[in-house]
Amino acid sequence: MLFSEVAESFAAIEATASRLEMSSQVAALLKKCKKDEIRPLIYIIEGNVAPSHEGLDIGIGEKFAIRAISQTSGHSEKAVLSEYKKSGDLGSAAENLLSKKSQMSLASSPNTLSRAYSSFVKIAQMSGTGSQESKISILSELLNGATPLEAKYLIRFCLGKLRLGVGDPSIIDALSMMKHEGKADSQIILRAFNLCSDLGEVAEHYIAGKDLSHFSTQPFKPIRPALAERLPNAEEITKKLGKCAVEAKYDGLRMQVHLSSGKVEIYSRKLEKMTHMFPEITSAASKLKAKSAIFEGEALAYNASEKKYYSFQQTIQRKRKYGIAGMARDFPLRLFVFDLMYLNGKDLTLSPYSSRRKTLEKVFANTEPLVPSELIYTDDPKKLDNYFTNLLGAGLEGIIAKDLSQPYVAGARKFAWIKLKKSYGALADTVDVVIIGYYLGKGQRQEFEFGGLLAAVLNEETGEFESIAKIGSGFSEDEMQSFEKMLDEIKVKEKPKGVNSKLTPDFWVKPAYVITVAADEITLSPMHTCGMVGDTGYALRFPRMMSLRDDKGSEEITTTKEIIEMFEMQKRRKE
Ligand code: AMP
Repeated sequence: MLFSEVAESFAAIEATASRLEMSSQVAALLKKCKKDEIRPLIYIIEGNVAPSHEGLDIGIGEKFAIRAISQTSGHSEKAVLSEYKKSGDLGSAAENLLSKKSQMSLASSPNTLSRAYSSFVKIAQMSGTGSQESKISILSELLNGATPLEAKYLIRFCLGKLRLGVGDPSIIDALSMMKHEGKADSQIILRAFNLCSDLGEVAEHYIAGKDLSHFSTQPFKPIRPALAERLPNAEEITKKLGKCAVEAKYDGLRMQVHLSSGKVEIYSRKLEKMTHMFPEITSAASKLKAKSAIFEGEALAYNASEKKYYSFQQTIQRKRKYGIAGMARDFPLRLFVFDLMYLNGKDLTLSPYSSRRKTLEKVFANTEPLVPSELIYTDDPKKLDNYFTNLLGAGLEGIIAKDLSQPYVAGARKFAWIKLKKSYGALADTVDVVIIGYYLGKGQRQEFEFGGLLAAVLNEETGEFESIAKIGSGFSEDEMQSFEKMLDEIKVKEKPKGVNSKLTPDFWVKPAYVITVAADEITLSPMHTCGMVGDTGYALRFPRMMSLRDDKGSEEITTTKEIIEMFEMQKRRKE
């Protein structure tokens, strides 16, 4: 397939606000693919050259993309820069400048999808001195054979800014639509995806008509993490689960550790490789008495001599590219292992929690700094509540109660795990929101140009981001400065597609950054569109920013449905 066909289809996708229509556009494009074009197309739509756990990022710097555009369009770099400033999008600048070019380069043949993809892979694999020059020349070659529209998407992709607005759920629907009118196979495709986190691989198998039930866990294919539901209090938890395991909820870094024949990889919550950051965990995992294993836990920085945990802020300092050995010495981690999904060649995801836990305790006996998470078993709400209070007293976040009979529910929020957290006002939990816009500062804050954020949650039914709060507090001056810089890079002229908001901020931004917000309660408000019925939506009262969540993508934020549930729960907490 020609890459120009892909570009045309991307333009059509960008022009539609309907998620269903988007999926059917993707389905139509996938139908045109030859077998070996399916994976490349899926990865490109996802905005990268490979699933994120493979750690192969395209990322060309803007400066170099400008040089490539200049070389192919015949315009000076200064002219490219001034065109870029007009729209704030280098892709559109390339499109405009290439359309002014009188003639396509006769020597170059049109790009195919396969050629574009293999160029992307080459660019991603290059590193070291001189690699930027080679990257520029590969990109220039692609631009030489490109139509102006193609150039727009080639540039956006190479900058890591494709952001078509087509998330994995829409791609899964698209796959299902290829064979059925509705979404008949979505659940089967989703299950396979949850177990291997590689939608390209799943799509290739599915379109080839292979049975997806053969998908099972395997080392170095990260499993999409299980998520916890919420209930307002101990009574409701014990009523729902009966006798259950009540585990301490640690606030640190979630890690999924894979081990096979001495090799270890560690994946983040977002399933990005972070092995090299945590040498003490890697070393401990490689010493386990197991040929292969996949396990999950929460890591905290721990002061062994004082028997004290460092704060979350200190723990997250461990997520860094440089100075790793020094940090590992000063802030060593302890990993509280809370699940075991694979052991010695056997998939355990379908075994009940009680049996997984039994095996976990055998595997992690005397394996410091890998230790089983702390827990009690009870069906008594009073005991649960006492345990919860004690843990809060010890500085922990709360508890996660686990259904003894449930499998590991990959990639889903189910009542197999139920969290109960330290309360913020009447609200039972913090809320993860995506930033959709920002305001300029007034008065004292003027010098930072940053005055607050407009934030949204995700309505999973419509695929839209619905506004829920204007956040003006909780930021340090450093944070304000870095927000201003970060957001300035992704600001857009108009309200982005897929954003539903009655408020208009000073600047709209692409919904990319996720933050955790605490609030006093959820209220009804005419200002916000979250879960809107008539004129009234849900809003956060006294919202304040807690932390930037670069471990979460915009599809993983709190949903409108969860907000409505939390609103109902809040009434029960108040009673
Ligand atoms: P939340 O991020 O508030 O939805 O809570 C779920 C998170 O709690 C998980 O993603 C884990 O990172 C973390 N966590 C901490 N302790 C545990 C535990 N014992 N079991 C499961 N998850 C835990």
